Amino acid sequence: MADKRDYYEILGVSKGASEDEIKKAYKKLARKYHPDMNPDDKAAEEKFKEINEANEILSDPEKKSRYDQFGFAGVDPNYGAGAGGPGGGFGGGFDFGDLGDIFGSFFGGGFGGGQQRRNGPQRGESIRASVSVTFIEAAFGCEKQITVDRSEECSTCHGNGCAPGTTPEVCPTCRGTGTVQVRRQTPMGVFASTSPCSKCGGTGKIVHQPCPACQGNGRVRKRKTIKISIPAGIDNGQTISLRGQGHAGKNGGSSGDLLVTVMVQPHEIFRREDTAVFCEAPITFTQAVLGAELEIPTIDGKVKYNIPEGTQTGTVFRLKGKGIPALNGRGRGDQYVTVVVETPRGLNKEQKEALRKFSETLGEGNYEKQKSFFKKFKL
Ligand SMILES: [Zn+2]
Ligand SMILES: [Zn+2]
Repeated sequence: MADKRDYYEILGVSKGASEDEIKKAYKKLARKYHPDMNPDDKAAEEKFKEINEANEILSDPEKKSRYDQFGFAGVDPNYGAGAGGPGGGFGGGFDFGDLGDIFGSFFGGGFGGGQQRRNGPQRGESIRASVSVTFIEAAFGCEKQITVDRSEECSTCHGNGCAPGTTPEVCPTCRGTGTVQVRRQTPMGVFASTSPCSKCGGTGKIVHQPCPACQGNGRVRKRKTIKISIPAGIDNGQTISLRGQGHAGKNGGSSGDLLVTVMVQPHEIFRREDTAVFCEAPITFTQAVLGAELEIPTIDGKVKYNIPEGTQTGTVFRLKGKGIPALNGRGRGDQYVTVVVETPRGLNKEQKEALRKFSETLGEGNYEKQKSFFKKFKL
């Protein structure tokens, strides 16, 4: 075995010979050394066997690729099966594919095993985007448009990358699988694994005349404006996923998604927690003392609300059902209004005098909080 001749040498072709050249060289030599043409010629018979063996390997893209990379060890299942040979631990004749899968996970992605078949349908990548909406738009839902740059299937070649009127050729090296089997010698023995076919770049196809619209890529970059329906109740930072609106897939794979994160702009007076809305209502000193009918802003517009006589600053009242609609469509939250008494400023002399006079009429009974506070403070 050690003095086996190189297969290319046997056929008299160079290493870079095309499929056609190999075929022609084989036919020529096979005719020359065929036993029918050389009866009782032992040397010719040996030669004929040798030629056939070389052809068997070099005419098979998979075997040829293994031979190119690993020599006889790559193609002869019995090679090295003896004691001390490179494949000693395993013997010959094992299934390359299975070992590729098993050992692929040992060696990680770099070894080529366990990775996705490149020529199979590949789902397109998703696109992330964001959209800004107002507080009110988020509460009640709205329609927005966003513009994204995405890959789409080329409409000229429908994704196969071929110029109109032509079709891709099945890659002869990997026979359309996109992968080739390779053997590696390691101290533990010979392991087989798959790696992407270098002839076709792992696509399984060879495009002779690339589509002029996409340069053979099958996908083209397009700027697209997409309408998004923002549901009522959406909150800041939530993401809407639009299935199939991302980048186009490859080899018939489905498109990725468009993931749109919603940014809700802050509102001047409303604040939100989940479906609850909060705001403050400044009232006058007189309104606080005498009670009043207030007009409170809500996300639906103004509503009337009566505060009673003697309302304290910091009092919170609730407007039922005036909050944000629930995202699941089930009801609405409430609005919480905090009353804040605004102390009047810039009083003139007369006003101050009137207030002092009025204040003298008040006693401890009018200020319960203050009374109890200073009582507690006494040591
Ligand atoms: Zn195209
Ligand atoms: Zn290939």
